[in-house]
Amino acid sequence: MKKIFSVCPLCSCKTATQVWEVSYSEQASHFLSPLVNRDKYEKLREHIQCLQKSSSVSLNKCSDCNFIYSYPNIAGDKKFYDLIFSDTNKYPQNRWEFIKSIEIIKNSKFKKPKILEIGSGDGAFIRKLVKKGITTKNSITAIEYSIFGKSKIKEFGIECLSIDIKDYKNKLPHKEYDFICLFQVLEHLDNIHKLVDRLKNLLSKNGELLIAVPNDKIIKFNELNGALLDMPPNHIGRWSKNTFIKYCDLNNINLVEHKVEPFSLKNFLLMFFSYRFLRKAQKQNSIAAYIKYKSNKNLVVFFTSIFIILDFLFSPKILLKIIFCAPKLGGETQLARISKFCNK
Ligand SMILES: [Zn+2]
Repeated sequence: MKKIFSVCPLCSCKTATQVWEVSYSEQASHFLSPLVNRDKYEKLREHIQCLQKSSSVSLNKCSDCNFIYSYPNIAGDKKFYDLIFSDTNKYPQNRWEFIKSIEIIKNSKFKKPKILEIGSGDGAFIRKLVKKGITTKNSITAIEYSIFGKSKIKEFGIECLSIDIKDYKNKLPHKEYDFICLFQVLEHLDNIHKLVDRLKNLLSKNGELLIAVPNDKIIKFNELNGALLDMPPNHIGRWSKNTFIKYCDLNNINLVEHKVEPFSLKNFLLMFFSYRFLRKAQKQNSIAAYIKYKSNKNLVVFFTSIFIILDFLFSPKILLKIIFCAPKLGGETQLARISKFCNK
């Protein structure tokens, strides 16, 4: 593959190979179909171009550290998320990383640990912490931008701030935290070194960062087999065990453990075939788009199910790949456990 000029946000290497490139129109239609709301779609398209200062975005793989990142590497801002999220967005209440992290925190030597969660959604993880008696409400701080999420967290009695954690001027209720959790957040962020610099300063002496991100191997499989692309400016960095090692080395912190969610055939099939349907629905003249956006509302679920079943039955090559390759990919999430001190 041809080498191109591009600056790696992780290791600063200036060459990369291109994985794919899309226009700002393709980016916008990934998040919002013009068939639903043409005006909003146009606004989103313009905003993406304005953010990136470019009418296209490239997904590049660093020649040195293999980090896969969007170029330009610019994160979505509040306006971007306000445009793509509706009030009806549902936050998952049970995730693999919640269970794993609760085990880690429970088995640690901290009594009533102070916990900071960055990107708390509607507070699903925090509520579990309190309900399981892991710590007290006033030991927890949440950071969340969405108005709906923030109101849910406050209703539960937990302090919730809408601040940029990277900004040193922003003060938090506690000076130090024993655990800082970022679940499905890091892949959305730019300025990753500035971020970890601040997080290191917020960790207590034996404190740990618990970072969950999507499994890069699943994303690669999806993209190569007609499912959704992992689209910027929503996700702008694709993490792996090796890139976590590099991140820790460069920032003089310690990767204590790296785990991948176990593979589940049922979850994989549901995710993969619905992502294939959604990818097809991004083409305005496709049958999938017709089903999703133009058919009778009461029949959408029925037609979508039929479409997915037919796609499943008529894709024998893909089914073979799933049988032979997918179990090796693992589940949808990976969890990195990072401590402040590097033992080297
Ligand atoms: Zn690199």
